Amino acid sequence: MALSRLALLAGLAAALLAASNSLRGTCTFKEIVQDVFRYQRLWQPLPGFPAAATIWLVREQGEAEAQPQWVLIDAGFPDRWSDAWNTQMMQALRKMVPAGRLKAILLTHSHTDHVAGVPNLLAAYPDAQVVVHEKEVPFLTGQAKHLADPGTFWRVLHTLGLVNEMITLPRDRLRLLRDADSPDGAPSSAPLREAGVQSLAFIPTPGHSPGHVSYLHEPTGAVLGGDVLLRMWPRIRLGPPALPAPPKTKAFSYEYPATWLIVQMCNAGDFSSFSTYTSEPTAADRPVLQTRFLTVSITPTLICPEPTCDYKQIQGSVCHMAALSDKWTQFWPNHDVLGQGMSREEFLAFAAQMPGCDAAAS
Ligand SMILES: [Zn+2]
Repeated sequence: MALSRLALLAGLAAALLAASNSLRGTCTFKEIVQDVFRYQRLWQPLPGFPAAATIWLVREQGEAEAQPQWVLIDAGFPDRWSDAWNTQMMQALRKMVPAGRLKAILLTHSHTDHVAGVPNLLAAYPDAQVVVHEKEVPFLTGQAKHLADPGTFWRVLHTLGLVNEMITLPRDRLRLLRDADSPDGAPSSAPLREAGVQSLAFIPTPGHSPGHVSYLHEPTGAVLGGDVLLRMWPRIRLGPPALPAPPKTKAFSYEYPATWLIVQMCNAGDFSSFSTYTSEPTAADRPVLQTRFLTVSITPTLICPEPTCDYKQIQGSVCHMAALSDKWTQFWPNHDVLGQGMSREEFLAFAAQMPGCDAAAS
């Protein structure tokens, strides 16, 4: 009996591993809109537990011919014994960007899955500057940590080599964005032009972390949005999609176990600083499986995992992006399991049903 259970468990684990490996994605940069390339490959810290992870590479406008200059947005995950995410990303990047041609690495925020690759990048591209909001600097120079009190679960993962300490960057490689650069929150290009970046502006979108920013690719209107919202987890609702869901319909979501894990990891079981926002069904939901009995969809989510996060501020940033929607065309979250980005209409549908967002979405 025990043996058959073991065999069943082993079979399940093998199936999970095979499924997540097949979803991992390709190790190349692919153009999503003119001159903006995406490297999207699932990161798999543990077999069977993949996480969608993206970084962006921008070819500077007007330099498509001879020897273009490039700009990277975010730097991605670290390598682990179980997953060589960073090494494979660097191989793909070297094929696109020769030494000396990477002008800058723009960071949306300082969480480890966005910055772990920076030291390797600075070694490979010694001329590149790192551009980041000044409120993220303490987390990049060893003065502050996002996880003030890591929980036991985090310590176990750390001992297993699956999570890492924050990186420490040399201050002289950092170039800072400041609140004063965009006092009204409008897209601001001046500080990026000073850093030699021609085609991007930044938009302050704080909350998920104190100095979180998004980047607007001005020639195409694509917003590279970091973690303002995430589309990471499937939600399962009972019943066919055509029927309107009664209020408080029971929905199973991978968010619940994922939330539990993250809270254990970050806050040692203290849920007080943790919140996620899950919307009622909107036009922003993307069904991936529809039958008579259940609907599985990928839905936008706000996630606020740490004491350094401000949940109300994230909601404000979503409303702010909605209010600016005449200035952009598509919104691309970094964690987007579908890898298709969001149209302006989808983003506005998500923002409209959020408390306090009415004015922005009208
Ligand atoms: Zn983050």
